[in-house]
Amino acid sequence: MNYLAYDRRYIWHPYASLKDPPPVRLVKSAAGTELELADGSHLTDAVSSWWCVAHGHNHPKIVEAIRRQSEKLSHVMFGGFTHEPAVELAWRLAKMAPAGLDKVFFADSGSIAVEVAAKMCIQYQHAKGRPNRRKLLALKGGYHGDTACAMALSDPDGMHVLFAGMMPKHFFAAMPNGKLDDWDFEKELDAHQAEIAGVICEPIFQAANAMNFYDAEYLRRMRRACDAYDIPLVFDEIAAGLYRTGPRWAHERAGIKPDIMTVGKALTGGHITLAATLASEAVADVISSGTPSAFMHGPTYMANPLACAAANASLELFAQGGYEEKVAQIERVFKEEGIPQVLGAVGVIKVPCLPARADIERVIDEHRVWLRPFCNFIYAMPPLTTDEPALRRICAALKDLAACPPGPDLGEGDFHE
Ligand SMILES: *Cc1c(COP(=O)(O)O)cnc(C)c1O
Repeated sequence: MNYLAYDRRYIWHPYASLKDPPPVRLVKSAAGTELELADGSHLTDAVSSWWCVAHGHNHPKIVEAIRRQSEKLSHVMFGGFTHEPAVELAWRLAKMAPAGLDKVFFADSGSIAVEVAAKMCIQYQHAKGRPNRRKLLALKGGYHGDTACAMALSDPDGMHVLFAGMMPKHFFAAMPNGKLDDWDFEKELDAHQAEIAGVICEPIFQAANAMNFYDAEYLRRMRRACDAYDIPLVFDEIAAGLYRTGPRWAHERAGIKPDIMTVGKALTGGHITLAATLASEAVADVISSGTPSAFMHGPTYMANPLACAAANASLELFAQGGYEEKVAQIERVFKEEGIPQVLGAVGVIKVPCLPARADIERVIDEHRVWLRPFCNFIYAMPPLTTDEPALRRICAALKDLAACPPGPDLGEGDFHE
């Protein structure tokens, strides 16, 4: 079978047109940081396959966990049943999460986990007798996913403008990147608190829309303001969590806790899709005392046992420790190599405009490093286990790409990640 020809004929790739689609490469297998292509060549995955492959591809412990689970129970509905991998995973997440954030709702992707978090905020306010609080306050420059509610909480001027007509309108505070004193967050919250059910942000690191690192003081201000109005604060740790920026949770830098937290991407170490929304005891208590007392969500594949088994093996690897050190090494190499914006295992070179597609492909081929620049960001977010020689090659590729002449404006198609 000519796979690439049939791919072109039948398949829509993410953020791609079916007319003259950008090239795709046929992957045969993967191990560690390396992808093996159909022609036998290798590429080092410098973007952790959209930031989820934390321990390297096809980690033997995770693969074995999935295999063993598949022999016992691949799936069962989660309404009316439970199973060992889900219970173990909830226990692990509760132990790893900030103290008190131990009520776990499983979701099948990050976007769904965000929708679940938003619904928790609404049900919380409803149970408290404030049904007019049914919008959220989010931050400009944020990204929370591609489903309708998650799009509506992402940067209103970003990649989802086309769908503005179908999205509920929420409130937005300025992107946390100017002068802290000028930030309008409290002003927005004061003005609209009667309608605001919850506040959501990506703590410390706004990833897919802005590649923006920001000060922990922003989070402390959000915490204080939310407390004043009894509004739950949601931290979306889907990209930044699980050591990507250094600490286990990015928000640890602020010394405060959210009321609700979303986890995804690296949760299964990039092996199968799974995400989770964690709520505090207080939030869970209020929702469960409301009418209805049930939390109103339940996806078909909720807590899929194979995904839970993968996540258990992934979290076991994180628990064995050493990840803060691994990330510190990546940060050190990125800085030594002169990458201008670095936080933990994230290195970004901002350019006025991306190079032409042909230049991007050439740099990938020359360095044997897989890069996926977007908007005006040339970046690496490699697996946390990437060794120093591979990190140096990744940096060389980043710098080479950044030195290419600007290409034509690629438009919406290349907006995403
Ligand atoms: C990727 C991402 C999501 C969406 O996760 P999916 O699994 O792609 O649905 C949500 N929030 C943040 C911060 C993300 O980076």
